[in-house]
Amino acid sequence: MLGVDMADELAALVGQLKGALVRHRAAGTWAAPGGLTARAPAIAFEDDVPEVLVPLGRRSLLQIREELGECTRCKLHATRQSIVFGVGAEDAPLMFVGEAPGEQEDKRGEPFVGPAGELLDRMIEAMGWSRQTVYINNILSCRPPGNRNPQPDEVAACKPFLEARIAAIAPRIIVALGRPASNTLLGTDAPISALRGRFHDRNGVKVMPTFHPAYLLREPDRKRDAWSDLKLVIAELARLGIQAPGTPRV
Ligand code: URA
Repeated sequence: MLGVDMADELAALVGQLKGALVRHRAAGTWAAPGGLTARAPAIAFEDDVPEVLVPLGRRSLLQIREELGECTRCKLHATRQSIVFGVGAEDAPLMFVGEAPGEQEDKRGEPFVGPAGELLDRMIEAMGWSRQTVYINNILSCRPPGNRNPQPDEVAACKPFLEARIAAIAPRIIVALGRPASNTLLGTDAPISALRGRFHDRNGVKVMPTFHPAYLLREPDRKRDAWSDLKLVIAELARLGIQAPGTPRV
């Protein structure tokens, strides 16, 4: 027989578990160990649990991409040419998060391949890394028409997939490029000028907000500030014992 205390504790735990599952179901994700399953867990909710393909636990990038499928979760699917996922190393210690695909990215299906991407490549190379050894992605996987700012419903629809990529890669440092990426990752609406230049903790992962390369193309005088942010990243990686594959230009 369980003691009263233990029975109470178990009841509280079951309640917490049920609450977590309800929240994951609302967010379109499930978090439990395992792989893909064709059924939702057999837990009695007050309303019906739909029979959907349910991803369980930490997933590989391939599983996450498959789960994203030919996404129609937000209105951007109607105007996009491609779904732009991420590129780079599955075990990259360093991740870059931008805003959303632009025209070139939408055409080619790869993030940061236009003019801003060329500058980002140079910034990454100056840090001693490359497109192949870091991971590059965006908060949105589809291009907003005319490159307008991401809207809250679009960010909400795409964020579980950004979170899943972060969980899959488990980077030690994330560089957030520009205000939308920084605000989305840090849950704030502060301007980039108030956020950049120092690390922010995000569930144990260090986030360095800095200027978006598209902004740096318009305001080249701010490149010096962006480089000073990236030098902090280089120093922190070194402190963590993570060696850049190339030689940083510091
Ligand atoms: N700007 C972004 O934020 N992301 C891209 O992929 C390209 C431009």
